[in-house]
Amino acid sequence: MEFKKELEDKINLLRRKRIVITTPRLIILEYLLQNRIHPTAEEVYQDLRQRFPSLSLASVYNTLKLFSRLGITTELLLDKEKARYDINTIPHAHFKCLNCGKIYDLLDIKLPQKVTGHKVLSTQLYFYGVCQECLKKRSNK
Ligand SMILES: [Zn+2]
Ligand SMILES: [Zn+2]
Repeated sequence: MEFKKELEDKINLLRRKRIVITTPRLIILEYLLQNRIHPTAEEVYQDLRQRFPSLSLASVYNTLKLFSRLGITTELLLDKEKARYDINTIPHAHFKCLNCGKIYDLLDIKLPQKVTGHKVLSTQLYFYGVCQECLKKRSNK
């Protein structure tokens, strides 16, 4: 989906929930759509603070919590210490490389909608290991 259309969809969702589109909310939304790296609140803040000096870490943190509550982002608990945020809310599994820290979307793994008769409403599936890129670098040495 193209950026403009996606941004419009997310803004419409906020409007439907009667959420005021403040500047921090808008710039964080744009950032998430353009940087699909599953960032933590700190990473979003570090990347945006240069361009938007009035932005605070607390407002980034609160905005991401709000977005997750509204279903605009999915909160990922890949790391014990801090949450990461995914703008792609279609359920999918993740792989984290323990060598380079990169997080990959695993779109080819089908997540069940039913498990032994129970209806699944949400799934968080994480894999940890060494990514393809890192494996290649290792074997080249
Ligand atoms: Zn890696
Ligand atoms: Zn993802």
